[in-house]
Amino acid sequence: MHVPNIPSLTDADPQVADLVHAEAQRQFEKIRLIASENYVSTAVLEATGSVLTNKYSEGYAGRRYYEGQQVIDQVEQLAVARAKELFGVEHANVQPYSGSPANLAAYLAFLEPGEKVMGMALPMGGHLTHGWSVSATGKWFESVRYTVGKDTGRVDMDEVRDLALAERPKMIFCGGTAIPRTIDFPAFAAIAEEIGAVLVADIAHIAGLVAGGAHPSPVGHAPVITTTTHKTLRGPRGAMIMTDSAHAKAIDKAVFPGLQGGPHNHTTAAIAVALGEALRPSFSEYAHAVVANARALAEALVERGFDLVSGGTDNHLILIDLTSKDIAGKPAAQALDRAGIELNYNTVPYDTRKPFDPSGIRLGTAAVTTRGLGVEQMPLLAEWIDRAVVGEDVEKIALEVSELMSAYPMPGFAVS
Ligand SMILES: *Cc1c(COP(=O)(O)O)cnc(C)c1O
Repeated sequence: MHVPNIPSLTDADPQVADLVHAEAQRQFEKIRLIASENYVSTAVLEATGSVLTNKYSEGYAGRRYYEGQQVIDQVEQLAVARAKELFGVEHANVQPYSGSPANLAAYLAFLEPGEKVMGMALPMGGHLTHGWSVSATGKWFESVRYTVGKDTGRVDMDEVRDLALAERPKMIFCGGTAIPRTIDFPAFAAIAEEIGAVLVADIAHIAGLVAGGAHPSPVGHAPVITTTTHKTLRGPRGAMIMTDSAHAKAIDKAVFPGLQGGPHNHTTAAIAVALGEALRPSFSEYAHAVVANARALAEALVERGFDLVSGGTDNHLILIDLTSKDIAGKPAAQALDRAGIELNYNTVPYDTRKPFDPSGIRLGTAAVTTRGLGVEQMPLLAEWIDRAVVGEDVEKIALEVSELMSAYPMPGFAVS
């Protein structure tokens, strides 16, 4: 059952309560390898489910448009102070509703409509909001995209520099959703400085690794850093924008009143809780364990003949090109889901198939590491993946998976 238990919900709306319990059970039984997902602590769950959701507080601490902010101001100030301490930044805005609106705030702060942004192309591992065509950011702004090397699967900083010098974008994004390698923040910073562009480091995926010292930090290189709080950082669904002092005011104005109304105070409280957890030494151990697990899983997959984009991983994420296994990403992901292994199909760089039916799958180790799986389990995961992608023994594997996972407690769930 779900923990904290939900007796009032069960009374008031058993239909929804049953669904909540069912989802908790599903998350308990499966091996969750979706690279952007995690398990939050019960403390984060409790803060998220609190009466702080009842309060409106447009504005910032000490400068609100509604009365009754005696407590909420303290909650937001706590979250801000912890973000500043954890990442070592001069300023933090914890109000963005999620990662996409956080990025939109950067556009509003530093670009006029029609001006030029540069980001990593979506099919190469970038994010929609970095100027991709179907996104508002690609429709309302002019965008240019850098890629990865066809042979290396890695961003080529010389190519990024050449493109930046030729196109002279006003804002540059680094970071993305399917990048298995370390992001070279100093190199991006040097390019941005050369052309006078604002560098935005979008660390949505790797924020927990940065916080835990398992990935280099963009602080001191990128004056603006956007992140979600719910991926490797292991907080509630939300986002933050961290800046140096010079960019603070523009970002704050862009988030409110530029883009948003009242902040989600229950989420702010849960962000504060998650940041408090990330400030403890155990979180650094967690971040390093996430990377060690990803490395071990990558090695075991390579041994089984899987073709990994860039050949491996430096972080929590693995991108597999299944072309050599003679199966497409979507049927593979569906077969894996039936085998109790949850991940997503994904385009790979220079994919010859369509985005809705691409050649790859994407995996991450943030969630399984939270459950307590270690490097010693990764060869077994690789073996199950190897058999299940081609639809072999899926029912049998699903049973073995749920048996394995039953030994690892899940925050948010208790066997009833
Ligand atoms: C997940 C992600 C986002 C968007 O976050 P949402 O909360 O889903 O809007 C933005 N940028 C990157 C790089 C991401 O991985």
